[in-house]
Amino acid sequence: MIMDRDTIMDEAAGRNRVVAGSLAPTPSVPVPVPVPVTVPVWRAGAALTPSRPHLFTSSLPHRAGGGIQYDGTRRLCMKITVLGAGRCVTGSKYLLQWKHHAALVDCGLFQGPAENRRRNWKPLPYPEHRLGAVVLTHAHIDHSGYLPRLVRQGFRGPIHCTPPTAALLRVLLPDAAHLQEEEARYANKKGYSKHRPALPLFRLADAKAALRALEPVPFGEWVDLNPGVKFRYHRQGHILGAAAVEVVTKVSGGQHRSVYFSGDVGRYGVPILREPESYPGSDVLFVETTYGDRLHDRRDPYSVLADAVNAGIRRGGVILIPAFAVDRTQEILYILHELMESGEVPEIPIFLDSPMGIETTALYSRFVEEHDAEMREYFSEGKNPIFPPNLTVTRSTAESKKLNHVDGPAIIISASGMATGGRILHHLKLRLPDPRNTVLFVGYQAQGTKGRRLVEGEPEIKIHGGWIPVRAHVDSLGAFSAHADQEELLVWLKRRKREPSTVCLIHGELPAQETFADLLKKELGWETLIPEIGDEIDLSR
Ligand SMILES: [Zn+2]
Repeated sequence: MIMDRDTIMDEAAGRNRVVAGSLAPTPSVPVPVPVPVTVPVWRAGAALTPSRPHLFTSSLPHRAGGGIQYDGTRRLCMKITVLGAGRCVTGSKYLLQWKHHAALVDCGLFQGPAENRRRNWKPLPYPEHRLGAVVLTHAHIDHSGYLPRLVRQGFRGPIHCTPPTAALLRVLLPDAAHLQEEEARYANKKGYSKHRPALPLFRLADAKAALRALEPVPFGEWVDLNPGVKFRYHRQGHILGAAAVEVVTKVSGGQHRSVYFSGDVGRYGVPILREPESYPGSDVLFVETTYGDRLHDRRDPYSVLADAVNAGIRRGGVILIPAFAVDRTQEILYILHELMESGEVPEIPIFLDSPMGIETTALYSRFVEEHDAEMREYFSEGKNPIFPPNLTVTRSTAESKKLNHVDGPAIIISASGMATGGRILHHLKLRLPDPRNTVLFVGYQAQGTKGRRLVEGEPEIKIHGGWIPVRAHVDSLGAFSAHADQEELLVWLKRRKREPSTVCLIHGELPAQETFADLLKKELGWETLIPEIGDEIDLSR
């Protein structure tokens, strides 16, 4: 299997910083009258400071626990511990404990710098074999990639997810296991690990065991986690199968408390998938803030891509598009097809040279109930815009190598999107020295990746041990993202049907979260909390 590191990375940041509160009001969105929020209804460990909400003081409970300790003075119906994506964007994991039961919402891997990844080796504060279930929001590895480790450590319960998420995981988790095993092998070869021998976090067998535990749940269907606690999924756009999770727990006297986990919030008006469902309101809201302080490029992605591709065609060479296998590849294929149908871009051959990209594009085609109106219309006419007639897919290594003889004009889409691995490296090695060729980056390029170095204009780059001169034209198009930006997050929240009484900002870097907290205070009158990893939130009454 070809390694495709992009599948384990979600976007981490955007490009255009804006000043909080400078957004124009969105006229089409009805804005309910802000209701002052009574904070704190819930307590985070010892103390919670509502006015400057990032001042949590609790710490992780000891592992020996496994059940909530009642202190006799208040009735505790549920406790939520943030185990990941607290003031950072990876490792999403929230431990829900009620009575003598527990479950996880999301089970993500920490990614990025080594100090982040080291967290993956720390034991959870709750015995894995006593966890009742996992409820996943979506398939991105920073939300699901810890599953094989959890199973390896003794978890035996069901893993709930939407049906498309289950299908994506069957592609992504084995690949994540391959990467783990490959990294351990490499560390042993180079001797850079402190551990001898270096071990993978999990193996392929663990990934397969996790896949056997998947329990697909359709959107909108209530599932009992235990008598008294239930959940259901709401569509969230973002990527195929992505969901928000609404958890409802009974409290005495026939009352209920609801907790809403946004997962990763998608965008309005992007092709292929249905739009995010409106936030229905809840007692407690956990909302992602990846782009809490930024706006995406507001230029029309169609014209941005058309201009870049046409310029590439004029140069006479091949246009390389490094792309994430999940979602970005399909979005680019869709837009290219539309541009070619309308004549804005000439119909030139497109090659999809990513085994994982081919599999995920097939899944995006298969789950027709997830398609938006335009996509459904295409299908009703017998067309598939993400598998257009001028698209050739190259699965085998031999087919991929034949692309070396392709002359322009042609487009080659390949992974990984940040040029950190995968087949794109072979294409870059071959095509970068020729000024007739074009490289179009269509996603965020993280610090330290080859993609970032190319976008920053480095004159030569090291690939497979050799230095390659960069003479091709390199461009970065900022209009593409699977995450709602600051304004889109605000729109999603403004469509609420009732006010939350507690709002926790998660899945963001602290500066982005503080900016977004100020904006929510100004726009909606909400006080917000910014929990750190280890913080607890009690649903007491
Ligand atoms: Zn995601």
